[in-house]
Amino acid sequence: MKPEKKKHRSPNLRRTIWIYFAIFIASVLVMMWMLFVASFGMNYKAMKAAQFNGVAEQILKGLSEGTLSSQTIDKLAYNYEMCVLIQNRYGDMVYSFDMMAGKCLIHNTNTFALLAYRQNAIDSPNKVYYAEIPNRFNVTTMLYVTVIGNPDNPDGFLFLNTSLEPLESSEQIIKTQVLLIGILLLILGVGISYILATLIEAPIKRIIKSAEMLGKGDYNVRFDGKGYAETVVLAETLEYTAGEIAKVDTLKRDLIANVSHDLRTPLTMIKAYAEMVRDLSGDNPKKRNEHINVIIEESDRLSGLVNDLLDLSKLESGASELKLTEFDLCEHIINIMGRYKLLAERSGYRFYVSLPREFIIKADIIKIDQVLYNLINNAVNYTGEGKEVYICLIPRGDKTARLEITDTGRGIKRDDIKTIFDRYYRTEKAKREVIGSGLGLSIVKEVMKLHGFDYGVMSEIDVGSTFWIELKCSPPHG
Ligand code: ADP
Repeated sequence: MKPEKKKHRSPNLRRTIWIYFAIFIASVLVMMWMLFVASFGMNYKAMKAAQFNGVAEQILKGLSEGTLSSQTIDKLAYNYEMCVLIQNRYGDMVYSFDMMAGKCLIHNTNTFALLAYRQNAIDSPNKVYYAEIPNRFNVTTMLYVTVIGNPDNPDGFLFLNTSLEPLESSEQIIKTQVLLIGILLLILGVGISYILATLIEAPIKRIIKSAEMLGKGDYNVRFDGKGYAETVVLAETLEYTAGEIAKVDTLKRDLIANVSHDLRTPLTMIKAYAEMVRDLSGDNPKKRNEHINVIIEESDRLSGLVNDLLDLSKLESGASELKLTEFDLCEHIINIMGRYKLLAERSGYRFYVSLPREFIIKADIIKIDQVLYNLINNAVNYTGEGKEVYICLIPRGDKTARLEITDTGRGIKRDDIKTIFDRYYRTEKAKREVIGSGLGLSIVKEVMKLHGFDYGVMSEIDVGSTFWIELKCSPPHG
């Protein structure tokens, strides 16, 4: 069934890229505006003010030293595009130069205005008056007025005036240019973000398509993340995940097939022997006992299998918790070996046990029992004609000990060793008669993992196998 397409709240990639580009363009424009338009006016006016100061200084110096000539003033006025007006203390014009051909403020205003400007200069703390005042053509001009001689009893006044018309027209040009650059940036931004979004989206869309196929159960689907390192890694990860899902799927199918097969075998036997008791051996106590014993054995096998399945599923799902207690492993192994005494006497198995005096561990005793029984039972089951099983606990210097369970059986092939601890794995599946549940080693693996103990196997064909686990000594109590 196709998964329902959900409406997502998060913005899509294309829109996000566009939003970020728009923010970027807007920031560039604001910065350009501030840098070129706003600061240009300020810089221009500051430059003009500095020129006023320079010119005024030269004129005042010339006046006080008596070296000032009309040519010097004309030259200064010409160079700096300024109108100059010098008045004596009574307001009579001493010198005048109109650089702006009638657009000058000081040459085209009334005496009262000039008097007011003079007064402003006298009133200002440093005896200089700056102002921006429009002329009769409504063009803003910059005015500079200062006192000549003693500020308390002035000899006269110096007026300087320049037009800010060049600033206004330059500002207009810059504004148009910034606007033009803005439009260009906008077109470029839309184009680039479209290409960028398309390029980034392409591998992601391919991966989504493949992931949908995977969702439908196609585990062989290929993930193509070509384009960027991140998408390549994503594609590889998904391909690995698909492989793992496929493995789990096969394992699940195998497990169901194996479990149902293993359940059916004892069930068939139980049914057959029960029918035999009913129809044939019911009256023959010897035969009946034999048949009933088979039924009991098969029932035990059945419940063993079901128990193993339950244990393993609990261990694998993490539902199983460790009940840690401290106990002497050596004493425990000796107890367990007591239960194999009957097997040794009846079937001729020989058990060689080598243990140190004591080795205290902190572990879940019931789960460690499962491990020991599984490993010893396997050694018994697979030891073959030699019928020898060696159980050795070797203490090491680093407060660990290695428990080795060795048999003299046919050994395990190198290729099989990798998979031997996997659920329901059996070597030479078809040929082998069923001895255990096929889950023993996976239970060993899960219990060891839960305890954080190391485990493994060494094996040589036709010589035997050694299954080992590494246990940590319980820390001494303070
Ligand atoms: P089983 O119930 O089949 O013994 P296990 O999980 O205990 O299941 O073991 C998995 C498989 O590993 C066995 O079927 C057997 O092929 C192999 N195996 C386990 N122990 C030994 C051993 N001591 N010698 C040889 N093969 C072994």
